Amino acid sequence: MEFFSGKSICEGIVIGKIRYYSKRRNNIERVLIDDCAAESERFSKAKEIAKKRYIALRDKAAREISEAKAMIFEVYAMLLEDAGFNDSVVDIINSEKANAEYAVAVTGDRLVAKFSQMDDEYFRARSVDVKDICDSLVRILMNESTDIEELNEPVIIAAEDLTPAETVQLDKSKLLSLVTECGTLNSHTAILARTMNLPSLVGVSVDERWDGKFAIVDGIKGQLIVEPDEETLANYRALAEKDRLSKELLMQLKGKPCVTQSGKEIMLYANIGSVDDVDAALENDAAGIGLFRSEFLYLEKSDYPTEEEQYEAYKKVVQAMDGRKVIIRTFDIGADKQADYFNPEQEDNPAMGYRAIRICLDRTDVFKTQLRAIYRAAAHGNVAVMFPMVISLEEVLEIKKICEQVMDDLKNEGVEYGEAEIGIMIETPAAVMISDILADEVDFFSIGTNDLTQFTLAVDRYNSKLDKYYNPHHEAVLRMIRTVIDNGHAGGCWVGICGELGADTSLTDKLISMGIDEISVSPSNILQVKKAIREAEG
Ligand code: PEP
Ligand code: MG
Repeated sequence: MEFFSGKSICEGIVIGKIRYYSKRRNNIERVLIDDCAAESERFSKAKEIAKKRYIALRDKAAREISEAKAMIFEVYAMLLEDAGFNDSVVDIINSEKANAEYAVAVTGDRLVAKFSQMDDEYFRARSVDVKDICDSLVRILMNESTDIEELNEPVIIAAEDLTPAETVQLDKSKLLSLVTECGTLNSHTAILARTMNLPSLVGVSVDERWDGKFAIVDGIKGQLIVEPDEETLANYRALAEKDRLSKELLMQLKGKPCVTQSGKEIMLYANIGSVDDVDAALENDAAGIGLFRSEFLYLEKSDYPTEEEQYEAYKKVVQAMDGRKVIIRTFDIGADKQADYFNPEQEDNPAMGYRAIRICLDRTDVFKTQLRAIYRAAAHGNVAVMFPMVISLEEVLEIKKICEQVMDDLKNEGVEYGEAEIGIMIETPAAVMISDILADEVDFFSIGTNDLTQFTLAVDRYNSKLDKYYNPHHEAVLRMIRTVIDNGHAGGCWVGICGELGADTSLTDKLISMGIDEISVSPSNILQVKKAIREAEG
């Protein structure tokens, strides 16, 4: 039995088997081989295995999603047989007496470079597919059981790092917990784990030898116990039961009004990242969706999601919420949430870089597609739309103009759409300082304390070395929140908070005394916050 400490990103106890996830190594070793024919044969066998997997994925996608979506796997299987690709791999094996892994990786890198330089956007986006295929082949050749998306049983995923894109592609029904070495409490992977209610840890020195071993994730103390002994297991089973009972107790708050002692009603909403999260929001009595991080829909895809795909996703959420408010945030791509098909460039400061509304106002084609889907979904219920990373009045005016255009287009085309409240996220100090001006232009503000804290304190929210400086309780942040609420109210806006700070019950009383109207948190935190609201003076 071994103990490893880390930081808990979601409380709770989990007991299960570890699946170690290793990414493709950056440097694939080049090994000199004697038998080129045998090496080519090894490459052919790996291709056969990859092909079978793609065919199985095609059938699964056709059953569970649609025939059209399943086609991509058919294309992957076909690409494996592409003559140019095969000739290049075999040529490198023969001419350089190199191992198959190396030959595949070199061929892949050359093709990716070729595709990414093409003028046609469609072909540029295909570079991601080529990379995927080559990574899979290399993993098969290296005998790595790391097709992370193929989980056969519920597992604890241990990895050095997991990007939000990798996390959203995991089969949620087979996930018990995420344990990673990198990452901070406010990274988007951590937020995703919290949204999915997975007791999880960051800052654990993970080890690939844990693969297949039994373990306990203690998301209360922040500990991982690998190969626990019987006594420890029994203790933890008892603790898990206690945890379950206290959560059951909180369930008694379901259906009770969300009002303070003095009778002020607070809108208590849920933060979600996917259509699937709506069930948890409803189970935990969310009065609405305060933040739908729509960018996760983009991260699940290998190409821009279409208007129709987005419309279906938003409609499902809106219909499930049945008249309750659903606030859809337009895509906040960039920083740690990168989708390859946006062709992101290397940036020195990506959190302060080309992201969110800056991309939207640049790529109005992609922005308008999303807005059309949102306004169409608004015909089915109570929808609001909000915009991330705003820093100026000019941006807000431009956004509003585009929203008007989108509605006009839909009207002229005779497509059904609905009205939607317009709000902005207040997550930059600039937006705080001009919130009096911005309040005249929008219906509501939603304070994004995760980014607001990092920008106010000049502390990178993804740098675990700076954890002790990342303090959302800092007086500077609290004063900003107060300013935004005061300016918002003076300008006729309602004001909410959707950053992680909203779930910090030690501040609930304070936020309410400042006049907050809405609090939006991960589904698993809703009832705790409801308890704190009902106990607050108000
Ligand atoms: C925030 O910055 O507080 C926020 C809610 O947005 P995100 O965490 O997705 O950046
Ligand atoms: Mg943010």
